[in-house]
Amino acid sequence: MKKKVLILGAGFGGIELATRLGETLANEVHVTLIDKNDYFILGFAKLDVLFGRKKSDEIKSYYRNLSPSVDFRKEEIQSIDPETRRVVTDAGNYEGDILIVALGADLDLDATPGLAQDGHEFYSLPGVENLSRILPTFRSGIAVIAILGLPYKCPPAPFETALRLHDYFEERGIRKNTTIRVLSPTPTPLPVSKEGSETILRLFTERGIEFLPGYQITSIDGSGHRAMIKEQDVISYDLLMTVPVHRVPAVVAASGLVQGGWISVNPVNLETRFPDVYAIGDVTKIPVGSAALPKAGAFADRAARTVADEIEYRIRGTGSPGRFDGSGTCYLEFGGGTVAKIEANFFGGPAPSVRFIGPSREFHADKEEFSSSRLNRWFPK
Ligand SMILES: Cc1cc2nc3c(=O)[nH]c(=O)nc-3n(C[C@H](O)[C@H](O)[C@H](O)COP(=O)(O)OP(=O)(O)OC[C@H]3O[C@@H](n4cnc5c(N)ncnc54)[C@H](O)[C@@H]3O)c2cc1C
Repeated sequence: MKKKVLILGAGFGGIELATRLGETLANEVHVTLIDKNDYFILGFAKLDVLFGRKKSDEIKSYYRNLSPSVDFRKEEIQSIDPETRRVVTDAGNYEGDILIVALGADLDLDATPGLAQDGHEFYSLPGVENLSRILPTFRSGIAVIAILGLPYKCPPAPFETALRLHDYFEERGIRKNTTIRVLSPTPTPLPVSKEGSETILRLFTERGIEFLPGYQITSIDGSGHRAMIKEQDVISYDLLMTVPVHRVPAVVAASGLVQGGWISVNPVNLETRFPDVYAIGDVTKIPVGSAALPKAGAFADRAARTVADEIEYRIRGTGSPGRFDGSGTCYLEFGGGTVAKIEANFFGGPAPSVRFIGPSREFHADKEEFSSSRLNRWFPK
């Protein structure tokens, strides 16, 4: 009898885990992968839609093209019982011998009053599609990019967006008529990397982009185009582009798996407090000193490999138990055709290390390889 492995969420982590189990344990496990969508999108590809470089259809990878070893179901998950590992969807019921929650982080626009009326977000596909129609009509004024809450996915992405917005305005010949301001609740752009923060601030200074640290927006006054700042004044804007507050999906919040806003896991093998129930990726919170592991696809990918190792070890007794090292590489476009690389390793060495390399033109090919190698492996059909 094959073991039933049930993976909830076909995002970065869920697809990597399903693919890997298909590669290593096809005869021992039946993998069911459930997602409410019928396609996957790499997070950073959304910025290409935002700036009109690509159409939405060009960045979608359809689940029908996943490996035949994965039993994919397009269904919306409605409840998760971690005690019994039973899951109810809008189309049926499932029970796994091993259950993995990989449902990511949702955007909570309602957490910031007024945002839905007069602000925009660039973290979802509908968000970037909407902004890609608005940006060409923006000719002058103040563009504010604001991080509305912590934690959020891919911490460098708002800074990359500001640099690309600068280039976009330059190309259109309107940069001199515009102001770009980036507001963040954090004291530096990337608190985990001094080097990365310094590089971002240097690039901002060279381009006349303003960084306002320690700014927490509490609400938006749409009629006056003003953002209210906690314990400070207000900030005026003509265009407001935000990273909304993040939270676990509602179905996860109701599951009993969440403690302190996110799912806590054993940081070594990523098992939750419920036996045979694991959680990977953005839906988890893994402490790193007084902070937490950043939310990024690169770490979700690594977490998936850890759980795949763990499952193989448990079922076959070969290899070694899963050991999460919190390592990963992220690539960031910094304008002018340059790409920077962040190499992080939070648990693999004596102390967390985060190396910020570049930006340089030569990392473009590395970034392409990062995405194409995964997409080709995940979607072979
Ligand atoms: C603009 C932007 C740029 C980024 N750039 C980078 C980058 O350069 N490098 C990097 O490493 N990361 C980057 N990221 C972050 C990266 O996309 C995420 O960290 C990563 O996708 C997390 O993977 P995950 O598997 O945890 O969740 P996700 O990939 O978010 O997958 C979760 C899945 O769960 C599904 N789901 C949720 N609720 C339900 C439900 N009730 N029923 C069924 N299905 C459900 C969703 O449809 C989704 O497919 C970026 C993100 C953004 C927004």
